[in-house]
Amino acid sequence: MSQQGYVATPPYSQSQPGIGLSPPHYGHYGDPSHAGSPPGMMKPAGPLGAAAPGGMLPQGPSPPGPHQFGQNGAHAQGHLPQRFPGPPPVNSAAPSYAPYSPSTQSSYPSPASTASVTQLASQLNAMHINSYGTGMAPPGQGPPGPPSAPLFQGLPRPPQPSIMQPGSQVLPPPPTALNGPGASPLPPSTHRQDALPGPAPLNAQYQPPPLPGQTLGTGYSPQQASYGPQMAGGQLSYPGGFPGGPAQMAGPPQLQKKLDPDSIPSPIQVIENDRATRGGQVYATNSRGQVPPLVTTDCVIQDQGNASPRYIRCTTYCFPCTSDMAKQAQIPLAAVIKPFATIPSNETPLYLVNHGENGPVRCNRCKAYMCPFMQFIEGGRRYQCGFCNCVNDVPPFYFQHLDHIGRRLDHYEKPELSLGSYEYVATLDYCRKNKPPNPPAFIFMIDVSYSNIKNGLVKLICEELKTVLEKLPKEEQEETSAIRVGFITYNKVLHFFNVKSNLAQPQMMVVTDVGEVFVPLLDGFLVNYQESQSVIHNLLDQIPEMFADSNENETVFAPVIQAGMEALKAADCPGKLFIFHSSLPTAEAPGKLKNRDDKKLINTDKEKILFQPQTNVYDSLAKDCVAHGCCVTLFLFPSQYVDVASLGLVPQLTGGTLYKYNNFQMHMDSQQFLNDLRNDIEKKIGFDAIMRIRTSTGFRATDFFGGIFMNNTTDVEMAAIDCDKAVTVEFKHDDKLAEDSGALIQCAVLYTTIGGQRRLRIHNLSLNCSSQLADLYKSCETDALINFFAKSAFKAVLHQPLKVIREILVNQTAHMLACYRKNCASPSAASQLILPDSMKVLPVYMNCLLKNCVLLSRPEISTDERAYQRQLVMTMGVADSQLFFYPQLLPIHTLDVKSTALPTAIRCSESRLSEEGIFLLANGLNMFLWLGVSSPPELIQGIFNVPSFAHINTDMTTLPEVGNPYSQTLRMIMSIIQQKRPYSMKLTIVKQREQPEMVFRQFLVEDKGLYGGSSYVDFLCCVHKEICQLLN
Ligand SMILES: [Zn+2]
Repeated sequence: MSQQGYVATPPYSQSQPGIGLSPPHYGHYGDPSHAGSPPGMMKPAGPLGAAAPGGMLPQGPSPPGPHQFGQNGAHAQGHLPQRFPGPPPVNSAAPSYAPYSPSTQSSYPSPASTASVTQLASQLNAMHINSYGTGMAPPGQGPPGPPSAPLFQGLPRPPQPSIMQPGSQVLPPPPTALNGPGASPLPPSTHRQDALPGPAPLNAQYQPPPLPGQTLGTGYSPQQASYGPQMAGGQLSYPGGFPGGPAQMAGPPQLQKKLDPDSIPSPIQVIENDRATRGGQVYATNSRGQVPPLVTTDCVIQDQGNASPRYIRCTTYCFPCTSDMAKQAQIPLAAVIKPFATIPSNETPLYLVNHGENGPVRCNRCKAYMCPFMQFIEGGRRYQCGFCNCVNDVPPFYFQHLDHIGRRLDHYEKPELSLGSYEYVATLDYCRKNKPPNPPAFIFMIDVSYSNIKNGLVKLICEELKTVLEKLPKEEQEETSAIRVGFITYNKVLHFFNVKSNLAQPQMMVVTDVGEVFVPLLDGFLVNYQESQSVIHNLLDQIPEMFADSNENETVFAPVIQAGMEALKAADCPGKLFIFHSSLPTAEAPGKLKNRDDKKLINTDKEKILFQPQTNVYDSLAKDCVAHGCCVTLFLFPSQYVDVASLGLVPQLTGGTLYKYNNFQMHMDSQQFLNDLRNDIEKKIGFDAIMRIRTSTGFRATDFFGGIFMNNTTDVEMAAIDCDKAVTVEFKHDDKLAEDSGALIQCAVLYTTIGGQRRLRIHNLSLNCSSQLADLYKSCETDALINFFAKSAFKAVLHQPLKVIREILVNQTAHMLACYRKNCASPSAASQLILPDSMKVLPVYMNCLLKNCVLLSRPEISTDERAYQRQLVMTMGVADSQLFFYPQLLPIHTLDVKSTALPTAIRCSESRLSEEGIFLLANGLNMFLWLGVSSPPELIQGIFNVPSFAHINTDMTTLPEVGNPYSQTLRMIMSIIQQKRPYSMKLTIVKQREQPEMVFRQFLVEDKGLYGGSSYVDFLCCVHKEICQLLN
């Protein structure tokens, strides 16, 4: 079997060998007829429905065997997970998550389920969950230490000191030690988990969290920072039982097998631990195979020979030496590359290397660019390529003597010899037709059909353009932007505008033949904004009036893109189209679409059709656009189905961005749209790009995911790529890798700058290789793994039944963990769930991915929304996908108004909320401010300037500016959260127990989903059961 079989990547249709642990039920992939209940899968029967992963929940008792519950994911404290008391079980009031209750599937509200999360302790000793950092030290040795620390040592070969081991089987300290005098302060998230029932004073529930980036200090005792053996021994540890745990707790027997959510790995704890140990520090990229700080940790990155993790992150920083090992572990080997990532101002921007007419120095054989991985020999006259081992002559202009350790004397003077990332000025050989490119152009294309005029959108766009065109991006050293601009409006015909600077009035030219669009004017269409400013303003003032009486409802779409591309082609420049569009293009023209939204396809093998474009017109249009460096960014304002899967295809394949504003309402949505428009126009971007990934011998890039187009198997073509877009690249072995030479990756992007200069941007990264599986697991990065899994699954959605994809994800998760358990962890009872330290939160993140609306086959979610989210994720970098799948939930009522630091986040579960609290949730697309019914009036006054909860107007999408510290701090926090994100998040105010809360609850991703999808606890049980079956 080829090596392609070992991970769950598309085409998803290959049979996949097992890992030798289990019956090969991976062999069933791609054959839906077998996919229903492979060995080891939970039956999708019963009330949980067929919508896996809900369908995979354990129906019966937990896995066989002696259940010993250990704990690795939570906190060394004896507090019970108390919940705020749920509202009485009346209409639309009750929190509805009762994961094990068979009656709760998508039932909102679900009375009587409120307390189902509080009955847990009696099962605490039913199963062991242990986390061995490396699996190398025997359990029980050494005190538990900060778990993350050992992972990040640059030299992972020697066994880790046992102090780094969580020592998972050490008995927990007696609860009194945790609660009694002298006990260390609790880690931040645990405070939040202990919201007391009733109207306790706020400060009794929440203590000020340590600041992000704060080092180990009062807030973290080593014990608490670890995911060690804190599992308290069931209810015995908790005298008094469960306050708030109602005695009437009745339910199916399964309830009694419930896991304590506090005992399973907490993403917040993992994030906070990494912040505590690595935040605020300088991270130097000097060693091969170093695992960088998490994306959620702020630190200063210093390039010392490897690309910054802002540019490249990997699923693992240590590759297995052989493909057999890779097959065994099933850990995807992938890199998430964001070549134009924004670098904070306190880090060094990329150096530009200019070799004049000589151009960059490259290996003769593999064409790799000069980089720190080239070894100079023979007194500096020749060098050996680190990628293909070819020995090359050093070109005379580049010669330099070597020092006593064989390093060039100019090593530190040349960025390409000593840095991981840098740019080259490209010579004419790298330009189309061997001539320098023209600077790019931006073309603004506005849908002026009836509804857009009527609702004021056209006027809003035109007004805004007058301002935003002042901020066209420019090269740092330039006074003005080199970007030229042009304008088109359209409904079922196209209107081109001549805005040449010497005209008194703009001139309109109408193109009615949309079957074969031509550009009616060249001179005067694309102009310098500064020169033509008055004509352009004149035009923008006139456009809303010009079409004010239009009754035209029908629009075209493909011809609009065609027109923009032809205009760029005629001007011989790359560029970007900004299209503002609202409706399904039903007018007679190429790319005409019909409403084909068919909910009956959901949960069938034909569901994939909903994600595919309706016609191949858009596919070939995208190909043409890429060939001419034409990037398409689409602002969509749909009020009904517009077929995002078709309309979004060109933006996706051309490296553009799709923005979608459902049921756009001027007073509520314009701010979000305008922010997006401004950001998009101003953001750093490269045009007409080709990316090439080179690797050292033994492995190669085999698959690519992102806003890309590929005409062959190696050249990744992008009409444009901006600072927010990432390409995920998967690697496979084609030979053995050697531990001593490691695995080297070079990403080269050839592109045109906004000023019209042709450049090469080079990123280099060196990884370790090992023949020990433990090394591989130790070097994994879960956030990157989830990015990879999301993109590979979302790509597969086009071709495979969703059920099969979900099963592959679950199986591969179990497989990776089972392999670790079998080969790396210390011997322990078969029923123990043991997670590698680097993958502690893989199950919870994987569950979030499975619950995403793209993979969840539910008719309640609009087809367009699913297609939209699918497309967004395909170009996300690791930080964005992490936030998207596991939102940030911040307690606001405990804000320290004197601090600028964000409060410590809490886990995304209803049980973490409290009705006296106010919480802010953000996932990169949406922001919610959730207000408990008993929110403190002084806070409400402070934030909203109204006297009570009842007075709060939930229609607002921005908070009022109230001149007090609460308001200022909260609004500042919101802007910090927004700052680094590519999409403007729309704020929704949610009052507890009011209907809109349903939307908010979908983001409480540790709970059971409203529309299906397991709770985290249930999913972990499911994965554990899978692992047990694999191990047997
Ligand atoms: Zn080479």
